[in-house]
Amino acid sequence: MKTMRAQVLTEVRHFELKEVPVPRIGDDEVLVKVVYCGICGSDWGSYNGKYADEVACIPLTTGHEFFGTIEELGQNARGLAVGDRVTADICVSCGTCYHCRIGEPLLCSSFQQIGIHTDGAFAEYVKVPWKNIYKVPDEVSDETAAFVEPLTACLNASHKMDCMIGRCVVVIGCGLGIMHAAMARARGAAPVIVVGDNPDRLKLARAMCADEVIDITTGADPVAEVMRLTNGIGADYVLEAVGHHSTYEQAFRMLRRGGKLEAFGICADDDYASLPPAQFVLAEKKISGSCAGIGYDWGDVLTLLKYRRIDPTPMISMVVPLEELETALHELRMNQKLIKVLVSPLVKERRILNR
Ligand SMILES: [Zn+2]
Ligand SMILES: [Zn+2]
Repeated sequence: MKTMRAQVLTEVRHFELKEVPVPRIGDDEVLVKVVYCGICGSDWGSYNGKYADEVACIPLTTGHEFFGTIEELGQNARGLAVGDRVTADICVSCGTCYHCRIGEPLLCSSFQQIGIHTDGAFAEYVKVPWKNIYKVPDEVSDETAAFVEPLTACLNASHKMDCMIGRCVVVIGCGLGIMHAAMARARGAAPVIVVGDNPDRLKLARAMCADEVIDITTGADPVAEVMRLTNGIGADYVLEAVGHHSTYEQAFRMLRRGGKLEAFGICADDDYASLPPAQFVLAEKKISGSCAGIGYDWGDVLTLLKYRRIDPTPMISMVVPLEELETALHELRMNQKLIKVLVSPLVKERRILNR
């Protein structure tokens, strides 16, 4: 039996590098040889047992932000060839439940994501349904292609938020928040304001896409600052990309009357925000949520990258060998300068890309 190296989350807070069988593909699947797999904030959550439905999936190889090449094709795969540069829609929905049949596959009652609920790409190979595969255009680098999945989530949130040209968007959070801000800018939002607690990342946000940044480490009150920057009106749209009740409460307070809060940051299961319901009525404030990207978001993000409407390259800090996954997870918490770290089963030594 052919085997491969894989990082297996064997229990909460413990990854083990194991030699495991290479996934056997069915007729409707392809095998992807992983070149890069990005570390997501949610991998830190899975590692720490933050989400109950994911703990239930342990032991599990996580890793869902991957780019690779096709190694093997199932019989039914069409339009693909061995060696193709690809990434994949990680969402697997059933197609027959109530939500799937009314066009809400992200809410599928048996929704699963590759690398979150089923084995993913912190390994040499990952298997994927062939219909989920997207070919990567030549203009998009391997490293950037590993950033497609998080960008699909940003794009999906951007669609749901549906901001109008020339309106103010505040993004709370300066991790993936920077890319939410970049999407808002690409849509013509103005001003785009990023609130964060990491001066280096805020500097990058300013250089890449933000008109204004609010650094809470200076003691600035983000609600007061947004009010000041919007002449006392408040933001037309606020996107929460942190995942904590305190930032949701702030987001709601800095929203203008009639404004819309786009919920993106995932709070712990037992974390509750306190919001005044009267403002849904008397101030007509709105909330919508967006949990992930799906299907067509992959194609659209690849187009945005190909034509450089969005470019996450400056956010990719370094590449580490597969062996260093657990170390890198901790480093991401400790080292303020790191943003996106890619794991690769193909490299022996770390490679610094941006600092
Ligand atoms: Zn992710
Ligand atoms: Zn379904």
